[in-house]
Amino acid sequence: MSPSKKTLDMFDKYVIANYTRNPIVIVKGKGSYIWDDEGRKYLDLFPGWAVDAIGHCHPRVVKAIREQVGKLIHVANNYYMEPQAELARLISENSFGGKCFFCNSGAEANEAAIKLTRLATPEGKYKVITMLDSFHGRTLTTVAATGQAQYQKGFDPLPPGFVHVPFNDFSAIEDAIDDSTAAIMLEPIQGEGGINVPERQYLEDLRKLCDERGLLLIFDEVQTGMGRTGYYFTYQHFGVVPDIMTLAKALGGGVAIGAMVAKPEIAKYLVPGTHASTFGGNPLACAAAIAVFEALAEENLLENARKMGAYIRQQLEQMRKEVDSLKEVRGLGLMIGMELDHPGTEVFKRCLEKGLLINCTHQTVLRLMPAMTISKQEIDEGLTILREALREEGQ
Ligand code: PLP
Repeated sequence: MSPSKKTLDMFDKYVIANYTRNPIVIVKGKGSYIWDDEGRKYLDLFPGWAVDAIGHCHPRVVKAIREQVGKLIHVANNYYMEPQAELARLISENSFGGKCFFCNSGAEANEAAIKLTRLATPEGKYKVITMLDSFHGRTLTTVAATGQAQYQKGFDPLPPGFVHVPFNDFSAIEDAIDDSTAAIMLEPIQGEGGINVPERQYLEDLRKLCDERGLLLIFDEVQTGMGRTGYYFTYQHFGVVPDIMTLAKALGGGVAIGAMVAKPEIAKYLVPGTHASTFGGNPLACAAAIAVFEALAEENLLENARKMGAYIRQQLEQMRKEVDSLKEVRGLGLMIGMELDHPGTEVFKRCLEKGLLINCTHQTVLRLMPAMTISKQEIDEGLTILREALREEGQ
């Protein structure tokens, strides 16, 4: 029996089948490449669903984990620990001077943001306006916040308190506000919803509206944060500062960690007893995240994300002229979507067969979120395969 078959059989027998998995067993990763258990090498333009954003097994992250693991892995949050303090400082000083709560995932970070909203706004205010085509996580509350029926189906009754309006439509938000509205929550660029980039004016208007109406503005930067779009956080591209920001995915360089960051005057409502996470902010995860910040700063990765992102989009615009089914190219930095005129699953499969990992979201959008360490040569290699896959499909 081949090694893959053995693993696949064990999955079949012992692992709940709640994911659509592709039949390769990944055993090793380095930078923008991964290897399967039969020794085949793949170029990964979607590393870890945006988690491995500075590449697989970045040396700084590996080193930091190795060093930390021999000192202290976990300690309870009723004591102090240096790595958590240092990570909070890095997040705060590179964003808007907020204070951090640490957890282990994006959904938990958003859950914390929603709970904090309830505590920090006057009694009677609880409603959060979120966007259609948004994605905020898979817990019951974050599924309720998510504006996509496909993720909610079968889970009624969902926690109340969410209203969904079209993205990038300011008047829809104005119409949705009532006396119970507490916050507006959105991704500064929608990820799972198909890489939808809003107008700068829209976000500026939202900030103004929140200030005038006493609402909190929450940016879910779980997918857009940590340098992906060429800025530490995508709100910095738009120049619109949120009251609360949530992070996860890329934060730990592959290690599970999430964070909710809130302006100090809002954060103060999360007092002992209101919220907690056993694993949240443990020294191991924080050491990995500190190494990610070091890599971003010392290896010029934000600049590389901007430059390589512009290069990919320029190449894809060229491809669009040659491939009829490629309708539109969208994105910022290394968060890129290609809208096809038909479902993208076949292109995804063809790419995989040819040794290239990409993603298809919202049925018709091919999504590339390469590592911020990616080189032009690696991009050219990937786009050659993608072009072939698109062309073959059109034949
Ligand atoms: N928010 C956004 C914008 C996301 O893209 C995701 C995951 O894709 C989440 C929240 C949920 O994160 P997690 O899967 O870590 O709970």
